[in-house]
Amino acid sequence: MSTYLGLDFGGTKLAAGIADGHGRLLAIERCPTDAAAGPDGAISAMRRLVQSFPRSLPEPVAVGISFGGPVDLACRRTLLSHHGPGWEDFPLVERVAEVWRRPVAMDNDANAAALGEFRFGAGRGYRNVLYVTVSTGIGAGVILDGKLYRGSRGLSGEVGHTIVLPDGPLCPCGKRGCVEAIASGPSIARAYAERAGLPPAAITAESVFRRAEQGDEMARDVLRWAIGLLGIGLANAINLLDPDVVVVGGGVSRAGDALFSPLREAVRANSAPSPPGAVPIVPAVLGDAVGVLGAVALVCDQSRDSAPG
Ligand SMILES: [Zn+2]
Repeated sequence: MSTYLGLDFGGTKLAAGIADGHGRLLAIERCPTDAAAGPDGAISAMRRLVQSFPRSLPEPVAVGISFGGPVDLACRRTLLSHHGPGWEDFPLVERVAEVWRRPVAMDNDANAAALGEFRFGAGRGYRNVLYVTVSTGIGAGVILDGKLYRGSRGLSGEVGHTIVLPDGPLCPCGKRGCVEAIASGPSIARAYAERAGLPPAAITAESVFRRAEQGDEMARDVLRWAIGLLGIGLANAINLLDPDVVVVGGGVSRAGDALFSPLREAVRANSAPSPPGAVPIVPAVLGDAVGVLGAVALVCDQSRDSAPG
């Protein structure tokens, strides 16, 4: 059995795992990211995680990397991390190859997650998959005809920065009214805190969903607004891509039906009429392991593409 090492370099946590080519996870370990330690610190932390795996596991044949930030078009170097210094133009693939002496594949976290859900999760069995993560930010990855679509500059799938409300709330990208500025976890929390006159630190998206469930009309209003506009963003992407399925992951998706029912309704109301019926919008299934399994999916695809014959 061939196994693969998946490394997930996230902004708040690092994870390393071993899985086989079917996405069966044999081991996974996590630790918090020390942003100040930069890339070298993160690689050392990954080595420690891997060293803590049971000795009985088969040696991985290749290494995949999911990186929480933009990477260059060749997927060899990281361009920057929003969470800490030192990642500008850093040769992460080369460094990881020096440590583990195996072939290495890398992509940004949204693309890796999209491929992970496509190969091993909720997108399995489909050919065209739009994966969207609704979390601290809103990212997306696009699988077209069974392959990750990266665009001309590696910037495909920026559903989070499509504008759905001109002059709306300010987005971390500097523009106003992006989907991310309205429906990411922190944006939902901020909208509620502003309306309720509470300090933003006192509120999380999770608590807004809880308040709505308990009958708080203001919380219900904020969620109707945020999910409605997220639905417009997804409907626009669906109209453009005509995917078989939309897979939604990320922390906010844990709200379950409180998110998915109004989201499906908003998408249906804003999509072009399609004869075969609505595009299914389903929850991601890989959970916290999506980064590691996405990284494994990347390196499995690369090994398959470079295999002779
Ligand atoms: Zn934006």
